[in-house]
Amino acid sequence: MANGKAISDKQVLSSKNTVELEQEKQEILKRYRVLLKSCKPNLEKDDKKLIRIAFNTALEAHQGMRRRNGEPYIFHPLAVAQIVAEEMSLGTTSVVGALLHDTVEDTNITLEDIESRFGKTIARIIDGLTKISGVFDHGSTSIQAENFRKMLLTLSDDVRVILIKLADRLHNMRTLHFMPRDKQLKIASETSFLYAPLAHRLGFYAIKTELDDLALKYTEPEIYEDIVNKLQATKKERDKFIQDFTKPLIDEFRKQGIKFEIKGRPKSIHSIWNKMKRQHVPFEEVYDLFAIRIILDTAPENEKSECWRAYSIVTDFFVPNPDRLRDWISTPKANGYESLHTTVMSDTGKWVEVQIRTRRMDEIAEKGYAAHWKYKESSNESALDEWLNRIRELLENPDSNALDFIDDFKLNLFAEEIFVFTPKGELKTLPAGSTALDFAFDIHSDIGSHCIGAKVNHKLVPISHQLSSGDQVEIITSAKQYPKEDWLAFVVTAKAKAKIKAAVKEHRRKVSDEGKEIFNRKLRQMKTAESAVNMNNILLYYKVNSNAELFYRIAMGVIDLADLNKAINYDSKSRKAHQKGEGISLEEIVKQVRGNADALVIGENLEKIDYKLSPCCNPIPGDDVFGFITINEGIKIHRTNCPNAIQLMSNYAYRIVKAKWTGAKQISFLAGIRLTGADDVGVVSNITKVISSELKVNMRSISIDSHDGLFDGTIMLFVHDTKHLNTLIKKLSQLKGIMSVSRIDN
Ligand code: MN
Repeated sequence: MANGKAISDKQVLSSKNTVELEQEKQEILKRYRVLLKSCKPNLEKDDKKLIRIAFNTALEAHQGMRRRNGEPYIFHPLAVAQIVAEEMSLGTTSVVGALLHDTVEDTNITLEDIESRFGKTIARIIDGLTKISGVFDHGSTSIQAENFRKMLLTLSDDVRVILIKLADRLHNMRTLHFMPRDKQLKIASETSFLYAPLAHRLGFYAIKTELDDLALKYTEPEIYEDIVNKLQATKKERDKFIQDFTKPLIDEFRKQGIKFEIKGRPKSIHSIWNKMKRQHVPFEEVYDLFAIRIILDTAPENEKSECWRAYSIVTDFFVPNPDRLRDWISTPKANGYESLHTTVMSDTGKWVEVQIRTRRMDEIAEKGYAAHWKYKESSNESALDEWLNRIRELLENPDSNALDFIDDFKLNLFAEEIFVFTPKGELKTLPAGSTALDFAFDIHSDIGSHCIGAKVNHKLVPISHQLSSGDQVEIITSAKQYPKEDWLAFVVTAKAKAKIKAAVKEHRRKVSDEGKEIFNRKLRQMKTAESAVNMNNILLYYKVNSNAELFYRIAMGVIDLADLNKAINYDSKSRKAHQKGEGISLEEIVKQVRGNADALVIGENLEKIDYKLSPCCNPIPGDDVFGFITINEGIKIHRTNCPNAIQLMSNYAYRIVKAKWTGAKQISFLAGIRLTGADDVGVVSNITKVISSELKVNMRSISIDSHDGLFDGTIMLFVHDTKHLNTLIKKLSQLKGIMSVSRIDN
């Protein structure tokens, strides 16, 4: 019972009589023996002793505590340990960790007790579990980006922490019906947002499916019930179909002396529901979708050939769909999944997916990475390591802001993968949407940093070129190249992003150093001592907010030092004179804006307050907006859906002011629209006619590109407000030959 572990949940129920208590004791011991049995295949004598001590410690610590359903609390750690041993195939350390996972948080046992009894490793795991629990389970709000990061920090420390947490969550989901409704919803949505994808990424397919199904059960109870009932009602029909379908295969496998097992099961409730939603179809059209699984018992050296032999038998009886052959045996998925999938036409005219794999592959598919450790000689642990390394790289980058981090991470967690090759034929797995530059950074950060282009399948492409599965990629580098900020717009891997950000910062620093040299040289020419200069005056004069920025602009030639003398003497007196009639200071603005009104009203105190409409999103009246207090440019108005909004709000909440429009004045604001359509003679003149003559709107710029009979144009124009803009967009989209008209940010 990780969630809602308030003391009241665990108060001793005194209503049990001695007979019942004795029965309970027997039941606890029975469950403990079942656990030991599940651990057996890899249990040494010392291991057994350690598990017994852990069990006794937990039993004693949770003595008298009960779960919400009235059961003794120890049932929970026992169940979690059972999942860890049986469903995840983990070893003694994890079983011990599972048994003790709630002790430090909920009982008198301290971390020091754990360390002295079980050693450092177990203590570290329990510490991680206690911390995660504190972050997630007792927080009033949902997962915060920063907390997510903290959790992963623990994860990267010892992956067993997250595996035990996953088992804990699974047992809590299995017993969620005892929780009040609001907690059910919170726990269930967290499960589908975080735990199910984690289970998937780590390769615990069976657990992922169960978590998704259970989450659906609590978030959409009616839908869940409905599908369960319908599945029940159609079970006979399905079983009959599976029997008929597999009969000829079973006969042939036996004839050829192949050792095998055939399983047929319907898709999970969650995936049936997903399909119904995605394709807008009723249950009746998806319920009979299921996979037939053929599991072969074969020697390790014959795995691949036996699987293809089975494939050959299946396709002797049924026609395969050539587009649906998936060979995860030659190239396993990054989470370790291996299997051969084909979709064939059954005699009744229905497509059936057939999965062919060996016993070892099946176990890996169901139990994930832990199963790899059981098959050490042929294991492929590098993929998990690689994943953990990617996370570690992210965590090690101290500037990565929490929101960026969660985005990058989620992208890597949920994205589909593509498989591409190096010129030497080495396989690389990247998230879908990866570009040539991502590939370059994946090989080595030096190659990424100096990348100027690539050859994809021997054709020259730019670094922003998006890769597809099967591409062979050769990176072209130049010693003169260095990472640019705009690269961030087209890389998707966390590694590339982190490296580019770091390099850009480093580059800026170097340029800034050069600027400092120039600045000091100038001072020497002027025979002014560095110590005699008030940097603050200079910053104010040039309107920059830090020395680093000043030096950077000097080096880039943006700031000319011709009037440095004026800047040095730009003291408060000359500042006041300078400012006269130029509005009021930033501090005064903040005071004024924050002090009285609940929001900055744009268009009203135009003269008094120094504000600008931000060019990154070009807000116009009618847009939802906010004000951002800048150092030198007064308040900048952004649209709340501006691409920079989240970043500004999350990093500088204290500088955000509410803002709204006043409808009073007829002022014009700059806005951009994008049009596409068929490149017809006269289309441009029709567009401009509508804009300037009919609607009397002033255009600032227009640019139109046409190719292959289509055109794509951008127009910047001045409008009064969103209503005005929308009328214009509507008018334009009615023009002959126009396919789409939409507003753009800039
Ligand atoms: Mn727990």
